[in-house]
Amino acid sequence: MNRITALLEEKFGYRTFRKGQEEIIRAILNKEDVLGIMPTGGGKSICYQLPALVLEGLTLVVSPLISLMKDQVDSLNEMGIPATYINSTLQFPEIQQRLGMAARGEVKLLYVAPERLETADFLELLRHVSIDLIAVDEAHCISQWGHDFRPSYLKLAETIRSFAERPVIVALTATATPEVAEDICQLLSIAPENQVKTGFARENLAFQVVKEQKDVYLLEYLKMNQGQSGIIYASTRKEAERIHHLLKHHQISAGIYHGGLREQERSKNQEDFLFDRIQVMVATNAFGMGINKSNVRFVIHAQIPGNLESYYQEAGRAGRDGLPSEAVLLYAPNDLQIQQFFIEQSESTIEYQQNEYLKLREMNQYAHTQMCLQSYILRYFGEQGSDCGKCSNCLDDRESVDVTLETQKVLSCVKRMGERFGKSLVGKVLTGSKDQKITQWRFDQLSTYGLMKDWTQKEVTQLIDYLTAEHYLLPSEGQYPLLSLSSEGVEVLLGKRKVFRKQATVKQLVVDDDLFEELRALRLELAQEQQLPPYVIFSDKTLRELAEKQPQTSLEFLQIKGVGQNKLEKYGERFLALLQKR
Ligand code: ADP
Repeated sequence: MNRITALLEEKFGYRTFRKGQEEIIRAILNKEDVLGIMPTGGGKSICYQLPALVLEGLTLVVSPLISLMKDQVDSLNEMGIPATYINSTLQFPEIQQRLGMAARGEVKLLYVAPERLETADFLELLRHVSIDLIAVDEAHCISQWGHDFRPSYLKLAETIRSFAERPVIVALTATATPEVAEDICQLLSIAPENQVKTGFARENLAFQVVKEQKDVYLLEYLKMNQGQSGIIYASTRKEAERIHHLLKHHQISAGIYHGGLREQERSKNQEDFLFDRIQVMVATNAFGMGINKSNVRFVIHAQIPGNLESYYQEAGRAGRDGLPSEAVLLYAPNDLQIQQFFIEQSESTIEYQQNEYLKLREMNQYAHTQMCLQSYILRYFGEQGSDCGKCSNCLDDRESVDVTLETQKVLSCVKRMGERFGKSLVGKVLTGSKDQKITQWRFDQLSTYGLMKDWTQKEVTQLIDYLTAEHYLLPSEGQYPLLSLSSEGVEVLLGKRKVFRKQATVKQLVVDDDLFEELRALRLELAQEQQLPPYVIFSDKTLRELAEKQPQTSLEFLQIKGVGQNKLEKYGERFLALLQKR
């Protein structure tokens, strides 16, 4: 076995490299700069953590994600790898102490935010330490064409250029269109041919677009997937609060995270989520950057985000451990207006805004496409993909129901009511309600009154939502949009176009067996003892393999993915005791 594979096994407990890892590691050890583009959960960290062990000097990890640092450093220390971080959460004496450790060579890795490279203290340190490798995490932040540009990253490029002896640079990102990748290479002076791209496909993620009633779907989904960890994203604080309230009302264990909360509250909620004390986190996009909780089983977007880059990145927080997980987008046409509003409000150039509108349109088309959802995303990032076989479009082989007739009833009712009313009143007319408003407006005189008497009001409004999502009906702006017919809708009315509909279903993700639950409980106990998030001890994937293989000896235990020497020593005994009992 060669040296780096041996290290992979000894320190990280993995037998084989994932796609791209070995190539990137070898490039680094050959002193070549490299840009690695790997999907979330693809295993980017090992690409610099492993070389850090081999290289003599320090590995500087630049990451914009302060919340990630502690977690990463805890994980490394757990594996017996000396590492530390410096960021604004620390007091001055602590920073000095850690800088000292780095200068004396007591740590192999030092994590810092890009801003740190602008401080005098730090630049002074750089003069005294030999830095062999700089890992630039979330490297897309350096590009203005990316969706998350950070000016401090440009400074970083400057600092790197000012080094007397240039360390090896490894830039890593999970989201880069070809233009962004080119930009990263240029700004960090990485030869464009030194790109390792493993493909964006997340094979363990099943994408779904759901256009039915959000709240009903959400509650049903959470009921079906009780005990699984997940994130629910909303576009606004207000909507996050609303959903959080809704879940609490239904006794679902949920926390909330958004920029409007006090720092203290945010970090408490985040910790509760990381430590599996709460099941679901309801959040705005302020949450998640740097959350590397590996056992997130689902990410649900309760509202459409502004672009596919953000969507893929946020959705990609599900299933980092490689186990089957879901990414669900709940689509409602009105949510697009929120994103439009954000763009209008942004104080940026017209050119930038137009680019944002374009991105939003692509995002919207994702919600409407009939093609494989994973392939659609890959195509957006300039990659070819074959059908994933598990997204809601690929699985949509249930017979589509021809709802042309029902659609015609709805559309003709909307038309006869003058295209001046919202879905609830249209629903009332169609179901023949005796509501006062109906008689007041004399809608009971319409030929469409009571035309769908055998449907419930709710069923009709769901159909209306669907027809709106499919662009047969156009909603006006505002909270209670008025409906009018689109040109496609008119075609349906004229009998020139048919309408098909498939219902969304909710299924259970994984059936946990008893042993897995016992292992999970033990992990939680250990995590509480050590004040660590459970997944830092072992990932769900490792637990699952333990439950399947049921190792009985230390040697067998070591064969499990995710178990290295250090973890064997720390936890082997307790886990083996549990496994041997069975
Ligand atoms: P990324 O930063 O690319 O999103 P991480 O570096 O956090 O991904 O890795 C995701 C998960 O995959 C982690 O739990 C990590 O331990 C695991 N992992 C990384 N490399 C391997 C490997 N070669 N074999 C098995 N699991 C791996």
